[in-house]
Amino acid sequence: TSLLSVEQLTKEYKNGKHAIRGVSFSLEQGECLGLVGESGCGKSTLARCLLRLEPVTGGTITFKGKPIQQLNEKQLNPYRRDMQIVFQNPAAALNPRLRIRDSLLDPYNQYGRHMQHNYFSCSSRSAFVDELLEAVELPSSLAGRYPHELSGGQKQRVTIARAISIEPAMIVLDEPTASLDVLSQGAILTLLEQLQRQLNLAYLFISHDLAAVSRMSSRLLVMREGQFVDEFARQEMFAED
Ligand code: ADP
Ligand code: ADP
Repeated sequence: TSLLSVEQLTKEYKNGKHAIRGVSFSLEQGECLGLVGESGCGKSTLARCLLRLEPVTGGTITFKGKPIQQLNEKQLNPYRRDMQIVFQNPAAALNPRLRIRDSLLDPYNQYGRHMQHNYFSCSSRSAFVDELLEAVELPSSLAGRYPHELSGGQKQRVTIARAISIEPAMIVLDEPTASLDVLSQGAILTLLEQLQRQLNLAYLFISHDLAAVSRMSSRLLVMREGQFVDEFARQEMFAED
């Protein structure tokens, strides 16, 4: 069975806006599924519904064989560990008052008891922080710094390290390179590709950057006005006419 299966999902906001109008898709373990579409088509709404940051209005979300719409906050804990998100703007995702080390330990402190320890030994907190920084190719000397002392690319590496820290099955990448300069964009995409293979991660990769998404994805969904209007397999994305 699929890691994630979404059936006829709908989302109507309180103001009557139908942001998602019946979308269905599935995501396999270790797969990268691309999602492209113009601003306002509903990509972020879909991401927030998957993460249960927003209630859905209709349809079903099945993760690891379990329907998750009806779960209460406590029942959602293992699910919240298993599906992480990386946002567009790493500066907004990191608490400016916390040292990098403490930001990195945040999910572990919250959900670490559910984690498998397939990749990170966590023999001690400081060893764990070093393991995480190494995984995203940052020097351990950054652990004591604050976010404003890091570049945009370094900050995004920290948010990626934090997302993988508790060994999720899946990460929603919501425009993960959109706020970065061109050189950092390429480096972050390469890192995300490496981590996907090393940790057997599934990605839902949301972007308006077709080149970035098609580079990494095995399939590509095209969203317009809350619906999927097209789907391409990898061979079709690179086919020559
Ligand atoms: P993006 O295109 O990157 O998703 P938006 O500018 O559409 O960003 O949305 C930014 C934030 O404003 C989001 O949290 C979204 O939920 C909220 N938002 C967008 N449109 C509306 C709206 N019509 N009413 C209320 N909140 C909105
Ligand atoms: P995208 O991520 O593709 O830019 P969004 O999911 O942010 O699109 O928005 C989809 C539609 O829903 C837009 O028309 C947006 O204005 C609207 N929207 C987003 N958030 C809210 C909200 N909190 N309340 C009402 N409308 C919203």
